[in-house]
Amino acid sequence: MFKKILIANRGEIALRIQRSCSEMGIATVAVHSSADTQAMVVQFADESVCIGPPPSAESYLNMRAIISAAKITGAEAIHPGYGFLAENADFAEMVEAHGLCFIGPTCEHIKTMGDKIAAKKTALKLGLPIVPGSDGAVKSVEQASLIADKINYPVLIKAASGGGGRGMKIVQKKQDMEENFALCRQEALAAFGSEEVYIEKYLPSPRHIEVQVCGDGKGNAQHFWERDCSIQRRHQKVIEEAPSSLLAPRERQKICEQAQECSAKLGYRGAGTFEFLYQDGEFYFIEMNTRIQVEHPVSESICGVDLIAEQILVAAGEKKICSVAPKMLGHAIELRINAEHPETFAPSPGVIENYHAPGGLGVRVDSALFRGYKVPPFYDSLIAKLIIQAPSRKICIERAMRALNEYAIEGINTNIALHKKILATSEFANGKYDIHWLENSLV
Ligand code: ADP
Repeated sequence: MFKKILIANRGEIALRIQRSCSEMGIATVAVHSSADTQAMVVQFADESVCIGPPPSAESYLNMRAIISAAKITGAEAIHPGYGFLAENADFAEMVEAHGLCFIGPTCEHIKTMGDKIAAKKTALKLGLPIVPGSDGAVKSVEQASLIADKINYPVLIKAASGGGGRGMKIVQKKQDMEENFALCRQEALAAFGSEEVYIEKYLPSPRHIEVQVCGDGKGNAQHFWERDCSIQRRHQKVIEEAPSSLLAPRERQKICEQAQECSAKLGYRGAGTFEFLYQDGEFYFIEMNTRIQVEHPVSESICGVDLIAEQILVAAGEKKICSVAPKMLGHAIELRINAEHPETFAPSPGVIENYHAPGGLGVRVDSALFRGYKVPPFYDSLIAKLIIQAPSRKICIERAMRALNEYAIEGINTNIALHKKILATSEFANGKYDIHWLENSLV
């Protein structure tokens, strides 16, 4: 087992990784920007290294500084968390080239699955159902129009390297294709450094359902059931839960086993997620995330496992993967708490003047906040995850509401009130929503 791991991330996920390491008897190195010197992970880690100024490009994305920090401190492995360098194949390669272990998949798998076109081709080859669309990259507006005529409007133009819900354009009718095609390519180039785009049928009313897997890189894999992440704003997840209230047991079993089988066939190593859209009883693969995800705690809650520990064990070659899925323990819901203005959704950085986290049975708070902490303006607005577990979905919602009522975060704006509003609706209670519901009905 590793003796020392460097955590190449910040915020709640850095602390989450530190906690697992600590329980496993592994020493930790926290790297941080000069904006994060007071971070909780810096205080809890055994060692810390400042790797640069506040902008991510000069600190959390600074590969050389991070690898130097690992070398100086004698860390043997690097955990990238999510975001930042977690799905950067060059970084994974660089880490390994320096004789360190990258806690994640091989750089080949990151490369293939990080390119959405290559990922769809791979998924199709592995027998997964995919959203109808172009065979690969679409190079011209004429080609785009031909494909759209074949699959019928509305269609979605998507950036091959897109992520975080960005790099997508809906085209409702033929006349709008030219303008949107050019715009999507331009935006993709600016945001992701590649203007490659592809086309997909736009599904009008799907749910987002994803399957958590973990493989050992030797052809063995296990699934940890599905998560339903359909409560979204601007294609970004706001609430996630497990299991999905929509699936019949046989559908659930089938899609989860398919994802597990694909991971095994790929020889996939580490934690990963197969993302699907689900509509009218059919699944459509959209992408694979080759990292731990923000919403992993809901799977941990219903499966009773520590997915970060699983990642570490697999990376160290010390995990025997059991292909039998864990027994499901009731229901879990995760509410993403963001520092943002309740109406404009503009980020709301600042000092936490008062802080009280909820507790009690079935309540978990993954957050690096404390009273006096200053939420910096440089990074993602996610400041906490409230994860609720209960024997049934109904009790889970009631418990989540109770926990939200206890949660006090003062000094900055948050979306706690929005969560209360969502949980109070009959649509959420009855599971009657799709990926557009939140934006169309509540915000
Ligand atoms: P990202 O990597 O940016 O998260 P995804 O491909 O995972 O992009 O899609 C994010 C979200 O965008 C999905 O959860 C869904 O809400 C929406 N979306 C993606 N593809 C389609 C589609 N073909 N039809 C309708 N909505 C889609």
